[in-house]
Amino acid sequence: MLKLSRREVIISSAAAAAAFGADRRIALIPSAMAQKAPAAGFHKFKVGDIEVTTIFDGIWEKAHDPGFIKNASVEDTKAALKAAGMDESKVTIPFTVTVVKSGGKTVMFDAGTGGQLSPLAGRLADNMKAAGIDPAKIDTIAVTHYHADHIFGLMAKDTNVQVYPNAEIIVPAAEHGFWTDAGIFAKLPEARHGLAKRIQATLPTWKNVKQVEGEREIAPGIRALAAPGHTPGHTVYVVGSGKDVMIVLADTSNIPALFVRNPGWHAAFDADPVVAEQNRRKLFDRAVADKIIVTGYHYGQPGAGTFQKDGAGYAFVPLV
Ligand SMILES: [Zn+2]
Repeated sequence: MLKLSRREVIISSAAAAAAFGADRRIALIPSAMAQKAPAAGFHKFKVGDIEVTTIFDGIWEKAHDPGFIKNASVEDTKAALKAAGMDESKVTIPFTVTVVKSGGKTVMFDAGTGGQLSPLAGRLADNMKAAGIDPAKIDTIAVTHYHADHIFGLMAKDTNVQVYPNAEIIVPAAEHGFWTDAGIFAKLPEARHGLAKRIQATLPTWKNVKQVEGEREIAPGIRALAAPGHTPGHTVYVVGSGKDVMIVLADTSNIPALFVRNPGWHAAFDADPVVAEQNRRKLFDRAVADKIIVTGYHYGQPGAGTFQKDGAGYAFVPLV
């Protein structure tokens, strides 16, 4: 078998770029990505000794809206969906929760929609059961940020009763401080007021919530890493070490077909889109350079894979 040195690989991709045109994109996202509910509601794989399960919670079918991406039109959005082999009549946003077993502890990252956001989501509990994970045995829930699709699964509909009363709930201090500030309503768009009120009625009153500052270990082999922009305290988690490492990217970007391919596109979901883009590029570049496996909350199933540099953007290559 032909083995290429790194230098030869670089030369040959430069030659390919010359042949196809410098901005020609060389990799494609498999077209089945994020389309409909996957056959299995979960996917298991290993990172070193750490067992990882990604669990599908469902999808939100979002109608096109010219305000969704600040620097791309609805036509651009449709073209990108089509190029990825996806239904271009709407934006399909999946929700996928990552669970790891590391150092004898079961840690879940975020908690799903709780079936309270989209009629097509709320399958986390059923799929968790199918994956053989007992929700009562989750030791830690590491929250990435306080958007509804990530935390409503922590609280029961209408009553706000805790769904995981026995788990330790790790939250980024910056995120907690932002949403629980009494003055937040003056700064926040009207549409987010309901979320802030619900946060203020729940998380600060729960005894099992633990705020963590900056970069530190939150469970065996799992470190928090601040990656703000999407929200003021948005945090990713680095799982494992050395070459056996995975990053739980959460909402560093939304769906790959739009925001991995076009890392400079600014979604309306991002509180500070410029800072979000800086952190997105930094994390994506690190994942490419170190061949790191990532999981993305809105990356569909399996919800995990690697990145490749691809023209001016990146390509997400799902695990198979
Ligand atoms: Zn999200």
